[in-house]
Amino acid sequence: MNCFRHRDEPAIAICKHCGKAACETCCEDSGQGIACSLDCLLELQEEHLLQNRIKQSLGVGTRPPMPASVSTYFFFGLILSVTGVYLTMTRPGIDFLTFAMAAVFFVMSLAAFKRYRDDCTTC
Ligand SMILES: [Zn+2]
Ligand SMILES: [Zn+2]
Repeated sequence: MNCFRHRDEPAIAICKHCGKAACETCCEDSGQGIACSLDCLLELQEEHLLQNRIKQSLGVGTRPPMPASVSTYFFFGLILSVTGVYLTMTRPGIDFLTFAMAAVFFVMSLAAFKRYRDDCTTC
C-alpha cells in the first residue's frame, strides 16, 4: 500500500481519523494516533478532547467515592469491640462472641475497602 497523496511512497501508517494510508512525510503523530495531514491531526486532537470531556461528565476515569459499606462495617466492628471490652470488664470471662462478631465486621470492612481500591487501579 502506498501513500494516498504520494503514490510512489510506501505508506507507513493508516490515518486514525480518515483511514487513509500515509507515508513518513505525511504522518503526523497526534499523541492519540497517526494522522495523514494537519487537518486530520487537529480533528483527532479535538475528538480526543471531546471524548475526555464526555468521560469527565460521565464520571469515567475519576475515582469513585468510597462505598458506604466500608465505613458502615468498620463502625459496627468498632461498636462491637467496645461492647466486647465493656462486657469483658463487667462480667467474668471474655465475651468471645462479641469479639468474633467485631472481627467479622472488620474483615468485611477490609474486604469492601480492598475491592474499592482494586477497582481503582483500572481507572
Ligand atoms: Zn486523515
Ligand atoms: Zn505522503
